[in-house]
Amino acid sequence: MSKITIVPDNVEFTVSSDETILDAGLRHKLNLPHSCKNGVCSSCKTKIIEGEVTLDSYNPKTLTDSEREQGYTLLCKAHALSDVVLDIPNILDGFPIKILPAKVTSINKAHKIAIINLKLPANMAFGFYAGQYIEVMIKGKNRSYSIGSSPQQKNEIEIHVKNYPGGIFSDYVWNELKIDNILRFRGPLGTFRLQNTNNPIVCICTGTGFAPIKAILEDMYINEDQREITLYWGNREIEDYYSLDVIEKWRKKLNIKVVLCLSKKDAPTTAADYFLGYVTSALVEDFTDLSNHEVYACGNPSMIEQVFEIACNKLELLRERFFSDAFIPSVI
Ligand SMILES: Cc1cc2nc3c(=O)[nH]c(=O)nc-3n(C[C@H](O)[C@H](O)[C@H](O)COP(=O)(O)OP(=O)(O)OC[C@H]3O[C@@H](n4cnc5c(N)ncnc54)[C@H](O)[C@@H]3O)c2cc1C
Repeated sequence: MSKITIVPDNVEFTVSSDETILDAGLRHKLNLPHSCKNGVCSSCKTKIIEGEVTLDSYNPKTLTDSEREQGYTLLCKAHALSDVVLDIPNILDGFPIKILPAKVTSINKAHKIAIINLKLPANMAFGFYAGQYIEVMIKGKNRSYSIGSSPQQKNEIEIHVKNYPGGIFSDYVWNELKIDNILRFRGPLGTFRLQNTNNPIVCICTGTGFAPIKAILEDMYINEDQREITLYWGNREIEDYYSLDVIEKWRKKLNIKVVLCLSKKDAPTTAADYFLGYVTSALVEDFTDLSNHEVYACGNPSMIEQVFEIACNKLELLRERFFSDAFIPSVI
């Protein structure tokens, strides 16, 4: 057992050598910074002040050798070799992680997506930031789903589940789940959320990466936030889009430009309302300089990597203003 201390708030917990520091922190109900839990997204990159860790394999782009030499590590891959002191400001901010039952109140299936509404127990408060996710516990496994509704919608949350044929949770949703069933989940998790600034924002998502963006924009809509927003939402084909009515609603009140991007090579050229190509191509058509912006990217990890490269290396976005949530498949 090693002791982990988080400064400046001096929070302590123990970790065994066979679990990662992130897993131990979550077990102790601390929402350590993280997203993919798989060494791909770099959301959990943290500075070690004291102590030694060893790392399981990870994508070297997320933690460079130079960053490692400067003392940075990836919490989702790090095992403590000694007592460790980590620098994580504001660790006590945020909402407590809970395990809760929720009743399914509706299941709306559109093409490959199911939108599931979950009613939370009236006597157990559940707070979260727009952008965070939950882990649904099913058949002994955990599956992560971003919350697609605003925290200001009381006692109910919505998740968007893509159908992966053969997938444990997908098959359960498509073949077994019924209204009034109870799902257990753990949350809120993750650190993806809107920053409290006035910078113009660019949101880029693919597929159900729309869910956390929808939560953030719904929240901005309720708050009558007039920040400049550009939203790129990529899908392969027109049928993959869902919840387009909410975009029409946002257009009436938010300062928003929405670009729906179709990536399928033979997408109909008559799709006049759509950009034909990848979200990254649409981004570089619209922007030459993102130095005043914040970028929020969600969805498949390779898209997020490309957006990061383009935004930070070509369009002058400050690295600390890039926020992402990578939908990495769970380790079964
Ligand atoms: C932080 C976070 C948030 C997420 N939010 C959402 C969300 O809002 N909506 C959503 O639909 N998913 C989301 N995911 C992905 C989700 O957790 C599951 O991985 C996914 O739903 C598949 O689960 P399953 O049990 O159906 O399939 P599994 O049983 O896990 O996998 C079966 C097979 O399906 C394929 N597969 C599974 N997941 C993926 C994937 N992401 N990309 C490509 N192929 C895959 C693989 O071939 C895999 O072998 C999120 C993931 C993370 C880490």
